[in-house]
Amino acid sequence: MAALTDFSKLCVHTQTTKPWSIEECITHFHAAGIKGISIWRHLLEGKDLNAVKALLEVHQMDVVSLVRGGFFPSVDKKQRELSLEDNRLAIDQANALGAPLVVLVCGADPKQPLEVSRQQIQESIMALIPYAKNAGVRLAIEPLHPMYAGDKSAIVSLGQANDLCEAIDSPWVGIAIDVYHLWWEDELKKEIFRCGKNNNIVAFHVCDWRVPTLDFLTDRGLMGEGCIPVRQIREWVEEAGFEGPNEVEVFSERLWAQDQKQYLEDIKKSYLNYT
Ligand code: ZN
Repeated sequence: MAALTDFSKLCVHTQTTKPWSIEECITHFHAAGIKGISIWRHLLEGKDLNAVKALLEVHQMDVVSLVRGGFFPSVDKKQRELSLEDNRLAIDQANALGAPLVVLVCGADPKQPLEVSRQQIQESIMALIPYAKNAGVRLAIEPLHPMYAGDKSAIVSLGQANDLCEAIDSPWVGIAIDVYHLWWEDELKKEIFRCGKNNNIVAFHVCDWRVPTLDFLTDRGLMGEGCIPVRQIREWVEEAGFEGPNEVEVFSERLWAQDQKQYLEDIKKSYLNYT
């Protein structure tokens, strides 16, 4: 398996360096030679998006995606409408920042069966397509690990995401493949190739699964710190036709507690050695 030899495809999520503001992320990523950035929306609260865009441009940053929209299902119709409104806002924000993609954490309502939530997810995404198309922003369904099926995502495997994406069948809707959520899947290679065959791979997220994992939200590892064959999965994704960036998305109390500039250097080492 061929190692990566440079940082041209390295993208870092702002949530990976959670202690930093959007301005700090942009300037420090740039200083570290990292060109790609995926921006988490909470960092934009109260910000002038034109000013953020100008700062991104000055530092020649490539905005890979805006994270995150979704959270569609609810037993309450009013709530589902509010969610659509929030997703239209996410599309507007992506458009304003020049982000080509909004990542969707699809959601689940514990008060109803998963299949009802999945139906509502499909209807909601289909309702958003004209708006997304008009803005020139694609939507990426991100299947999550099944441990999040209770309230974060009724889409919990790449197989299910492929089913959904093929049913929707729009060039404006694709799939974000995240090794943390999908590494365990029986037919992962087959499903990655199925996804690529339909040109549905639109994003690739990397980190690692620590053993033991102490917290299922905020104890992710850097690539090489856990049990995920990250390089193998990246090669499958590339063989399936994906040519986009590798996005480092790590949520870790342990790593957030470190000096974040040193941490960026550790991310770069882990990227070349294990991705
Ligand atoms: Zn992800």
